[in-house]
Amino acid sequence: MAKAKYEGYCDVQPTKLVREKFGDTKVYGQNAKSVLTKASGFIGDYDFTLNPYRGCQYGCSYCYAAAFSPNTQMRDDWGKWVIVKDNAAEVLTKELQKWYKQHPQTPPIIYMSSVTDPYQPLESRHQLTRRLLEVMLDVRDDGYPTPTLVIQTRSPIITRDIDYLQRFQRLRINMSIPTGSESVRRDFEPRSPSVRARLNAIIKLKQSIDSFKGFVPKISITITPLLPTLPTDEAAFISKLAVADRVVIQDFHPNHRRSLIASTRQEAEEIKKKYDWWYNAENFSYLKFKEKLFNQLPGVEIKEGKEGFGYE
Ligand code: SF4
Repeated sequence: MAKAKYEGYCDVQPTKLVREKFGDTKVYGQNAKSVLTKASGFIGDYDFTLNPYRGCQYGCSYCYAAAFSPNTQMRDDWGKWVIVKDNAAEVLTKELQKWYKQHPQTPPIIYMSSVTDPYQPLESRHQLTRRLLEVMLDVRDDGYPTPTLVIQTRSPIITRDIDYLQRFQRLRINMSIPTGSESVRRDFEPRSPSVRARLNAIIKLKQSIDSFKGFVPKISITITPLLPTLPTDEAAFISKLAVADRVVIQDFHPNHRRSLIASTRQEAEEIKKKYDWWYNAENFSYLKFKEKLFNQLPGVEIKEGKEGFGYE
């Protein structure tokens, strides 16, 4: 099949037109052949990854997913385009039917999402992630156990779906909060929600789901990659992390050879220069921060890298 050519990112007649604009994001639509992708590498313990969208409006400076853009121009413009997988719910229905036919008693373990944020702003309009949750819950009508699901996001929009989330027996929500300082967040990920909004979202999830209403999900805060937190913000930030069951840290590997370890674009390399007080002794900064987590969060599970990304 010929490679798609995206309007605004090709010199020839495009095959995919901009369907709408969401802020400054060009939104395209496309059908996917498959949405459950066999997991590998860093998240190889999962059966599948599930990405409702291709591209991500948050456009974080360090995002490894930019490397999987359709072309160089789109990689450079990471954050300004998103492809909606229009038929994702229908395809997922078929793929789950196939799985359960072969493994009627063993639910698949799914990581949503590895190369996009399933709750980026346009999800509020498209509700594609919500439809995928519905499909995963519907398997119970046929007597199958619902998938074990881990949701990775940095978006408070996830709280919209509490009604569905509490119906998953085995769910972990990973809220990504790489820094406790708003100014650092604005430098590295200016298009993303504030630190406070993310922490509040976790509090809302915890307060809204109780065992009388449904299953209580496990909650992680993923500080991956660990960005600097200003000394003036550090103690308050660490104390707020106590809201999670687990905190995951991972160091910043700008030139790591393995593609699915948090690596970066040149953009983040430039931003890092502003924080030489942290990055000139990066290993030391990481170890000090880790030590503080262990000392100040005795009731929270602290994990590093791959070990922290599983459901269990
Ligand atoms: S939210 Fe996640 S997928 Fe989206 S740009 Fe940031 S790191 Fe990448």
